[in-house]
Amino acid sequence: MTEAGIGKRVLLAKPRGYCAGVDRAVQTVEEALKLYGAPIYVRKQIVHNKHVVRTLEAKGAIFVEENEEVPEGATVIFSAHGVAPEVYEQAKQRSLKAIDATCPLVTKVHQEAKRFAAEDYDILLIGHEGHEEVIGTAGEAPEHIQLVDGPEDADRITVRDPNKVVWLSQTTLSVDETMETVARLKKRLPMLQSPPSDDICYATSNRQYVVKEIAAECDVVIVVGSRNSSNSVRLVEVALDAGARAGHLVDFAHEIDDAWLVGAQTVGLTSGASVPDELVQEVLTHLAARGYTDVEEVVTANERLTFSLPQELKRDMKAAAAARG
Ligand code: SF4
Repeated sequence: MTEAGIGKRVLLAKPRGYCAGVDRAVQTVEEALKLYGAPIYVRKQIVHNKHVVRTLEAKGAIFVEENEEVPEGATVIFSAHGVAPEVYEQAKQRSLKAIDATCPLVTKVHQEAKRFAAEDYDILLIGHEGHEEVIGTAGEAPEHIQLVDGPEDADRITVRDPNKVVWLSQTTLSVDETMETVARLKKRLPMLQSPPSDDICYATSNRQYVVKEIAAECDVVIVVGSRNSSNSVRLVEVALDAGARAGHLVDFAHEIDDAWLVGAQTVGLTSGASVPDELVQEVLTHLAARGYTDVEEVVTANERLTFSLPQELKRDMKAAAAARG
């Protein structure tokens, strides 16, 4: 170790980076490109990560905002964040071949929304206004769903029947802040029901949990992730709430400002659920060049969950394989 590096260390969080839903969504685009050839249209960013989007663009994916931008009859992939039913309808009207890469854990929340709406509940959807996932989930039952964007928002909610209300949530929220929102809602609506199972997904909770474990020991926590990635932004907030002296979000290693490291003995490092690990490795290299060669991985869970590719894609892959003999 160089003298400059004495005492400098990195606490590397695990789990970090890719979750099962992101892995599946990215693979869906890659396999579709191989099977049908470029271009493949993708509605919205397949996952909220600059590097992933640029890499897929280089392979022939074209990212669009809406179905109208996709030529009639072409293939379109819906992103991991899910879409409202009207988006499938629009795709049908334009004769698009739609492949749905919505994460199954987001689909689970859609199913809950549909079920409670069918039972005529008022549904309080805790989430961030304007986030694609929230737009998609709310689109399942707009007449039954009200958005609750954080604890402050809880006080303005009115419902038809306080005995028939349930809360659901976006999958990538801060666990602690969501519980605060629920507690505030429950003060006004004591009969408020909880989702049948956690809506905040395993990947979001696991990444927040390990950051909380390391935060108090860190002079600075660096989170690799994009600004529009909800779970990545939450990781910075969680780190600061849990005692990190500073926290920063970066897409790439070169965005790290040397001023952040002045006087920092311990740097915490993690990444959002849409971030490939090569970007974290680049940060480690960047930090090592500044004396942070002592890297300790702090592991609080081992994730093994995987999701199979969308049915419609698997069917075509199977048919193509059969045709090849
Ligand atoms: S963060 Fe959670 S809900 Fe979102 S894609 Fe990953 S596993 Fe699915």
